[in-house]
Amino acid sequence: MKKILVAAALLLVTTVAKATTYYQLSIDQGAHHLGDVSVSFDKTGQSYIDAKFPAWRTGRYDILNLANGVRYFKATDAQGEALKWQKIDKSTWRIFLHEPTNVTLSYQVYANELGLRARHIDDTHAFIDASGFFMYSEAARNEPVSVQLEVPKGWRSVSGMNKGKNPHQFVAPNYDVLVDSPIETGINELHSFTVDNRDYELVIWGEGNYDSEKMVADLKTLVQTGHVVWDEYPYERYVFMVHATSGARGATEHLNSTIIQRHRDKFAKREDYLGFIATAAHEFIHTWNVKAYRPEGMVPYDYIAPNYTRLLWLAEGSTSYLEDHLLLRSGLMTNKGSLKTWLSVLTVTY
Ligand SMILES: [Zn+2]
Repeated sequence: MKKILVAAALLLVTTVAKATTYYQLSIDQGAHHLGDVSVSFDKTGQSYIDAKFPAWRTGRYDILNLANGVRYFKATDAQGEALKWQKIDKSTWRIFLHEPTNVTLSYQVYANELGLRARHIDDTHAFIDASGFFMYSEAARNEPVSVQLEVPKGWRSVSGMNKGKNPHQFVAPNYDVLVDSPIETGINELHSFTVDNRDYELVIWGEGNYDSEKMVADLKTLVQTGHVVWDEYPYERYVFMVHATSGARGATEHLNSTIIQRHRDKFAKREDYLGFIATAAHEFIHTWNVKAYRPEGMVPYDYIAPNYTRLLWLAEGSTSYLEDHLLLRSGLMTNKGSLKTWLSVLTVTY
């Protein structure tokens, strides 16, 4: 296949300017699926700011009304004095200002929707897609952000975002990168590896019948094979996040990471394992096809109203085609296996 050159500049910069919006998420009631959020916006001289909660998350193009998980909302000024606010629609809190000041918001989020891959907290981990936790202001959307997690002792935090000053801090050049870079934090298994000078991580939450050494070996082969399609890679570091679950299943692509959810008993049999590695290939291809270059109409994101596109068939169809291509070229799937897959796709049973 003729190689496709990725002309887009690197989406992720290695250094991030000092943050102007600070997010903090504290988890000390994990068993109750609760997280306490604070958001600190830079000083503004406007008469009000609108703090918005996304209505959907990237990679899942459905309205999810994520603002419904918020309670105990408060807004304070630089002196800690309470500011008046009003909810003007289902996703927008308008905070009124009398003088130029920093604004800090605080609220609690209920996060118990593992399968939506937007937000989930329990006493062993949290999956944090920023769309499910963090409000934004349109005025500050392009400014650098910092995320600090306060989590139980022994938890480990992993994200495609650049690391900050401590193991539970991450930084991003803007809100759009933040919402496309989920964080997995908790009690997990972590493997790091390097291929062609790029860093990779595999983080697994949950017990299961997986062989993580085999997963690492095969993911190495997979990511290296990207060269057969693309000359350039749109990242310096990539994270595979895996949830071994009792129910939730599916996967989502992000800027330089993916989250794959799979039943904890569906890793060992050859057929099951192929299903896992095929999903990993699919989401990995999305790093180029949909993330590095996107269907017209998808960007800039409108986090409140839907972005429409007629190109989903191309975005998903060509990704599925390239998925098999990558699996075959990497040797992770045989020709016979590929034909069997296509036969099951093409066979219509009445
Ligand atoms: Zn897809």
